[in-house]
Amino acid sequence: MSSNTIRIEKTTQSKIGSTDFSNLEFGAVYSDHMFVVDFKNKTWENPKITPFQNLTMSPACSVLHYGQTVFEGMKAFRADNGDILIFRPEAHWKRLNQSCKRLCMPEVPLELFMEGLTELVKLDNQWIPSLEGCSMYIRPFMYASDEFIGVKPSSTYKFIIFTSPVSGYYKGSVKVIVETEFVRAAEGGIGYAKTGGNYAASLLPAKQALEKGYHQLLWTDSKEHSYFEESGTMNLMFVVNDTILTPPLSSSILAGVTRDSILTLANDLGYKIEERRISVAEIVEALENKKLQDAFGTGTAATITHISQIHCNGKDYELPAINTRKISNALNDALMNIKLGKAEDKFGWNFRIKK
Ligand SMILES: *Cc1c(COP(=O)(O)O)cnc(C)c1O
Repeated sequence: MSSNTIRIEKTTQSKIGSTDFSNLEFGAVYSDHMFVVDFKNKTWENPKITPFQNLTMSPACSVLHYGQTVFEGMKAFRADNGDILIFRPEAHWKRLNQSCKRLCMPEVPLELFMEGLTELVKLDNQWIPSLEGCSMYIRPFMYASDEFIGVKPSSTYKFIIFTSPVSGYYKGSVKVIVETEFVRAAEGGIGYAKTGGNYAASLLPAKQALEKGYHQLLWTDSKEHSYFEESGTMNLMFVVNDTILTPPLSSSILAGVTRDSILTLANDLGYKIEERRISVAEIVEALENKKLQDAFGTGTAATITHISQIHCNGKDYELPAINTRKISNALNDALMNIKLGKAEDKFGWNFRIKK
């Protein structure tokens, strides 16, 4: 597929002039265009870029009933020389297709994904201003579009990419509570897929945690609630004895691109890493003995989110001050510098669109 096969219909009413880039609510403002392609007759057809607009669908549209849908979340940054850098789009493409397989959805060819993404980001490149901390959040997603309410894999789908400018926001730390009643995902389920159902399942426990004064949950395993899984919608890491501890990937853990990037950098910088099951008891013991140096979540939205307090077994434990957390702060800086094109991209993570 070459780019001239993507039909482009430009907007005549750009919203860019009326957008306040210094004050953007995350996820609430969208750039002018979107990329759309249809899966029909067992093939992807009719790729196009259109003005960002509402979708129309039948009330019987199968995704509305059975949740056959997947998504991705990645970011593009403006380098100092004006080029646009998209962080690890191929890794996101790979994960999208892993999610698709689990949800019985068609995979998206790499060429189609990259062409759609590139053309869209080029067209809406003004939506990534050179303001400090601004970036573009990119949301590819797919949904089942059959008009049919029997339970079976849909035969038609739409794959769409739209983008949302995000400002540099103050990155606070979070207070979390160890969840021992609900689970986010179980072994053999769909936890490793980025699919709507996982997030729907997390809303009630997250709401209850918020009512108790905690920003996020630390999810535990579905069998015993004894081992850590993830932190909210981020992967989870601890530091004990100057060693980074993180749960190994499994069918119930989402394989974060940030997780992989942080571990790759940590390994490169010579930090010790243990990817293994981490029990709640072990972390509580480290907290009791003041041996827990750090705890943080990793994800595309904020890269690293520090945990300032952990509630477990009826007790609130305070963690060390954020500025004492050498390893995670160093890793966060190293990763941000690569994303922004300020440091050597030694792992070939950036996809560059010349200005
Ligand atoms: C998206 C996501 C992550 C983080 O993935 P990144 O690729 O690093 O953004 C972690 N856990 C869950 C449940 C997620 O949905």
